Amino acid sequence: MQIGILGGGQLGRLLALAGYPLGIRTELYDPSPEACAGQVAPLISAPYGDWDALARLVEGKQCVTYEFENVPLETAQWLAERVPIRPTPRALEIFQDRLLEKQYLNSIGIPTPAFAPIDPAYPESALETVELPCVVKTRRFGYDGKGQGVAHTREEYLSLVQQLQPHALIVEAFVPFDREVSAIGVRSLTGEVAVYPLVENRHREGILRVSIPDLTRPAPLASREEGRTARVPQHASASPFTEGRQGSEVYGYISCLLQSLDYVGVVALEMFQVGEQLLANEVAPRVHNSGHWTIEGAETSQFENHLRAILGLPLGSVAPRGYCAMVNLIGVIPPFEAILRVPNAHLHLYGKSPRPGRKVGHITLRADSLDERDRLLEQVLEIVENSL
Ligand code: AMP
Repeated sequence: MQIGILGGGQLGRLLALAGYPLGIRTELYDPSPEACAGQVAPLISAPYGDWDALARLVEGKQCVTYEFENVPLETAQWLAERVPIRPTPRALEIFQDRLLEKQYLNSIGIPTPAFAPIDPAYPESALETVELPCVVKTRRFGYDGKGQGVAHTREEYLSLVQQLQPHALIVEAFVPFDREVSAIGVRSLTGEVAVYPLVENRHREGILRVSIPDLTRPAPLASREEGRTARVPQHASASPFTEGRQGSEVYGYISCLLQSLDYVGVVALEMFQVGEQLLANEVAPRVHNSGHWTIEGAETSQFENHLRAILGLPLGSVAPRGYCAMVNLIGVIPPFEAILRVPNAHLHLYGKSPRPGRKVGHITLRADSLDERDRLLEQVLEIVENSL
């Protein structure tokens, strides 16, 4: 089995690595010859508009997938005429534009913060729909908090609009959230759906630092059986791992999202939690940083399940294995040996040279109790913080 992957960053690298045990061969495509996935699998380095190079990517592949959502739509559409693209270019089209994304989520019943497109000729008119304080964002190419700002007053709002133009903009209500969470789901070519436990995400300066699966009841062994994937639940049922109303809400949102788009592959839904309410912020039509813990922390990782899904193979169980936490390494690689000395700490480095704000690796911790996990997390965070 052979697949192509658009994008050669760490997500492409982790996908390629997940393919090896199953004998799935990957070829990556990235405009940068330095793309870190090129260290572990063949890389075609060419611009996204190079049709000859793209034709080479298609050769011998069952399908092509992507590891980031800013692949130009026309590249995905051109490829889709020659080879199955999973998830489809339609998912890319919707989720690379914050306005289409929020309109789509609302249209299928997933709530979001209030939002409005900003008309550059009459920017103030958007404030009739969205109250202050608000967040102004570029519709496209924003990531890790880039291309956005918070406005508390009309003046701040107008100045932000001016700063971020000429990009097309959207304004959203500022959400005083209690925490940020994400849900990762997967749908296979044959319609199986599975949803990993909800994850709490802690950011700093707009970049994800720590992800903690929100296991509200003992996970090891007892719940593994429940984690087996079911045939497409036509009516959303509860997630086996996240209890109560929130569990069934999340499961319902993910299945609805996946089924409404006839989606194939892994999807991530980032949300704000305010009290009991969940509001969707963003969808990533790909494997996601907040799912890295699944490599050691779940029976089947998000990377393997993405490969299984797009190749029409049965999905693997998404049941958690113990209690986990994931710590991102940003800008610096902490002392190698200190991390390796922490029991049940799994270090992943992406082969990238450290630079401020750059994700260079992550660490996953696994423990048999919540207390033990919290203790290990504290230990690792101290090592990481001290190296900054
Ligand atoms: P985003 O690029 O949309 O994921 O935003 C980056 C970060 O900015 C999020 O993880 C939040 O911490 C914060 N943020 C984004 N949108 C909002 C909002 N509407 N209200 C409050 N905080 C926000």
